[in-house]
Amino acid sequence: MAKAAIQAENLVITYNKGKSNEFNALKNINVEIYPREYIILFGPSGCGKSTLLYTILGGNVPDTGHLYVKGEDIYAYTPAEMNRYQQAVIGIVYQQFNLITSISVLDNVALPMIFLNKGVQERNARGQELLRRFGIPERLENKTPVMMSGGQQQRVAVARSLINDPEILLADEPVGNLDSISAEHVMDSFEEINEKDRKTVILVTHDAKYLPYAHRVFYMRDGELRRIVVNPEKPQVKRTKPGETIVTEIEQLARLYPYAEPMELKVKSIVNFATQTIGFTQLERLEKAVLQVLAGTMDENLLMEFLMKSVHAGGVGMHMDEATGVMNRVFALVHYSQDVQKFRAEVHSDNLFLHQRKFIDHLLYYIKEEIGITSTAVQIGILRDAVADRVGGITNAAEFEEKLALPEHLGGAAYDEDAAGKIARHLEKLIAQGGYIIRANELLGAHS
Ligand code: ADP
Ligand code: MG
Repeated sequence: MAKAAIQAENLVITYNKGKSNEFNALKNINVEIYPREYIILFGPSGCGKSTLLYTILGGNVPDTGHLYVKGEDIYAYTPAEMNRYQQAVIGIVYQQFNLITSISVLDNVALPMIFLNKGVQERNARGQELLRRFGIPERLENKTPVMMSGGQQQRVAVARSLINDPEILLADEPVGNLDSISAEHVMDSFEEINEKDRKTVILVTHDAKYLPYAHRVFYMRDGELRRIVVNPEKPQVKRTKPGETIVTEIEQLARLYPYAEPMELKVKSIVNFATQTIGFTQLERLEKAVLQVLAGTMDENLLMEFLMKSVHAGGVGMHMDEATGVMNRVFALVHYSQDVQKFRAEVHSDNLFLHQRKFIDHLLYYIKEEIGITSTAVQIGILRDAVADRVGGITNAAEFEEKLALPEHLGGAAYDEDAAGKIARHLEKLIAQGGYIIRANELLGAHS
């Protein structure tokens, strides 16, 4: 089992302790980060992301708790040990580059080596190597950084952070000041540093579009680590613990692909659902096939054929049973998602109630045939209202599920918890595939 690179234990950080402006910035953080992980700290401004990062850097003495790096409590270090830690074990990149404007680019990069008493030749050779690697032209290395673009300055700062070959690289909003193209270059370089150089990367951002870079995303709010989301697209350094993937698939997909087209999200959602243990190449092929199904150019038979064709011959290589299951589930979802979309499209028309009923009938059929639950008339009545409220955006997913599981005398549908969970999960999928939830006011507007 991987030993934690970094472990926070009951970490509490309070600014201005004992003063009138005392502020509890980290409440009780317990977390482990593994060697070679790429972690993103994500959350709104002021939630404590930078505070956690600087605590890892050795800059905030905890009120209580400990911060261990490779098993050592860094706040128990002597000043000399702390210096060594900050110079050689850990590197950092800031939002505002923090380059020294009066010295050359090369000296900026090599500066941290001076503190380790390295000679000028070694410093320059290493500095040049890193500058080349991050695409800084040779003619700029003896100039001061003032004339460089923001993107170039940040790449110099990334080179500097690596000069002493640290094991852990921290970055605080490193692309917050960059245009989108420079930002992408810099973000790609962090990915490379994580993958090729095998460094642990901990990066702060408040921009959701960068979340797919991470192995795991730590969602912070009000000084707390609210949840940890594992990126299913990346092979994990360590197996997920129970309770770590507590967000719904839809939430997860929307966060992982924040700018994906609805169609793209839909394809991923369907494929995700229809398969559990299939390899990456097969997944990619299946995604393409589902795209064709959605476009109407692939029917049940063609999909079956494709699923069962060997991987070698360009297919997915599934056995008959497996392929049949996947095919059925894909087509069930495609049909029902089309119903949801139709429902959405006609929500403003006079046929609202007719379409709502049709949609719910389909859903009931789905519950019976796919989940294997037979519903009583009373349950159907309650389900009807609950689905209308949910699809209308009047209730949220949790409220919908609760309503299904509530006993009859409390106005619920009295499904057992397992069934309620399954129905709710399926409905969420259908809603996601329909695009998004109709806002309550949209629906009410359609009534008036
Ligand atoms: P984030 O990086 O998520 O935006 P920070 O960790 O910088 O948040 O700050 C968390 C909270 O602590 C904020 O409310 C901020 O105002 C406060 N804070 C940060 N640094 C200090 C400090 N040096 N002194 C007092 N309060 C601070
Ligand atoms: Mg910050």
